[in-house]
Amino acid sequence: MFADLHLHTHFSDGTYSPEELAAEARRRGISALALTDHDSMEGCARAAAACARHGMEFVPGIELTAEHAGAEMHILGYFLDPAHPRLGRELARFQQTRQERIREMVARLNQRGVALRAEAVFALANCRSPGRPHVARALVQKGVCRSLDEAFERFLKKHRPAWVPKYKISARHAIELIHDAGGLAVLAHPGLNRNDDVLPDLVGAGLDGLECWHSKHTEAQAAHYLDLARRHRLLVTGGSDCHGTSKGPPLLGSVRLGWDYFLQLKAAAQRSGAAV
Ligand code: AMP
Ligand code: FE
Ligand code: FE
Ligand code: ZN
Repeated sequence: MFADLHLHTHFSDGTYSPEELAAEARRRGISALALTDHDSMEGCARAAAACARHGMEFVPGIELTAEHAGAEMHILGYFLDPAHPRLGRELARFQQTRQERIREMVARLNQRGVALRAEAVFALANCRSPGRPHVARALVQKGVCRSLDEAFERFLKKHRPAWVPKYKISARHAIELIHDAGGLAVLAHPGLNRNDDVLPDLVGAGLDGLECWHSKHTEAQAAHYLDLARRHRLLVTGGSDCHGTSKGPPLLGSVRLGWDYFLQLKAAAQRSGAAV
């Protein structure tokens, strides 16, 4: 038995609905999954119901956009309460600033002669947590770019004309917020951050775990983070970070977290009082 604890739906920048995600996960032999949309838990209720129908365990989760020492990082939250009032207020702020950011990106594209309306991006995104991938899809749909990659390369990457920085909270704040909402905080894909020096600070701030296995980690990175997790006494998680079908074949189930690690995560959540 195995788990995939890093997944996106169309409630952020994935392509699957929660029901499609659960059905596809079942086909791939997954026994437990976590939904970790960017700055949103909108899809969790539907994903929980779909997983229950398929006899799979479901973990309500999130991937919060955060920063520490000037570097962006993503903090995963697991087993948090989607109905927690303060969490709801803070997520509303994320979602409002994401929408303002889309308007700013579109304004910059317009200044460069690209005809696009923010409403077209919102209609295509159809979620409260829109991001650059939705602008990229709109540019492809309009025929301005031939591929999502081209849209990022020409317009949306950092230092390109339509790039706009994203609202982030401090990693310390993210960890504290996740704890307040009854969850466990895990540093996402540390191998992509290329800076392990932040780890002691994050552990000091209460970080609970490290995403050792990720589809973009090499075997050597996974081994390295397993070792760091052991030394800092952190929980070990893993997930594919599947975004559906937008970036080639779906990654769902390509990272398999062993069941013992999943049980340890669950036990820790129970100890910290989460409704598991
Ligand atoms: P945002 O949160 O709005 O800054 O967008 C970040 C998302 O864009 C992440 O989920 C990335 O996977 C996606 N992304 C970044 N670069 C590319 C690219 N070259 N092609 C497609 N998606 C990308
Ligand atoms: Fe994403
Ligand atoms: Fe991420
Ligand atoms: Zn992700």
